[in-house]
Amino acid sequence: MLPGYVAVFNFADTQRRNCHLGHAKVDEDIEEFTELLRQAVGTTGYSLRIAGNEWLGFFAINAVEPIQQLLNDFYSEQEILTGWKSVGCKDKVQKSERVTTEAKIARAMLCVYSYLERLEALDTTLEQLLKNAYGLPVSIPHNLQQITNSLRNRWQCVSQYPVGLPVCPFCRGDSFNWLDGDSSIYSAYGFCKTCGAEVEFSDI
Ligand SMILES: [Zn+2]
Repeated sequence: MLPGYVAVFNFADTQRRNCHLGHAKVDEDIEEFTELLRQAVGTTGYSLRIAGNEWLGFFAINAVEPIQQLLNDFYSEQEILTGWKSVGCKDKVQKSERVTTEAKIARAMLCVYSYLERLEALDTTLEQLLKNAYGLPVSIPHNLQQITNSLRNRWQCVSQYPVGLPVCPFCRGDSFNWLDGDSSIYSAYGFCKTCGAEVEFSDI
């Protein structure tokens, strides 16, 4: 297989994609990438899913274009509605509200690669690739040797959420004593600090 390129692929912002599209859809994405990668490395290469949202690929080639092509093939965008709804209760009166905005959700891989000439360098290279596969622009193959001082920014797969914080349906206050919440985007339950209403927020 050597010389060639070794690359690590990280399915970017998977957690948020799960929240919006559900685990079944993300499982399909994972299967699709596994297959695309298998085809891209061909019979002369090697591919392996090494974690829930991480893959390893060996490409017995001397140019990065096929890796860029693979990232392009996997990239997609779709329109969704993002936002929150609230159900509030105060003095036995119930009020609810819904705020949404149109947004795009993208499906993208983050990729870091290195050219490998000798098998002895494999372990160190792999370790460095895994350590560096985060916070870089998605859908572009990044050369490990050129990113050591790169600024890292967490990429978000959703283009936008409604402007402003979720508010109390009674008094419009945006400050709460939270009692509960989970890893969803807007899921939370608590009491409005301004008027005392009990409010539950959830994702649209
Ligand atoms: Zn309130």
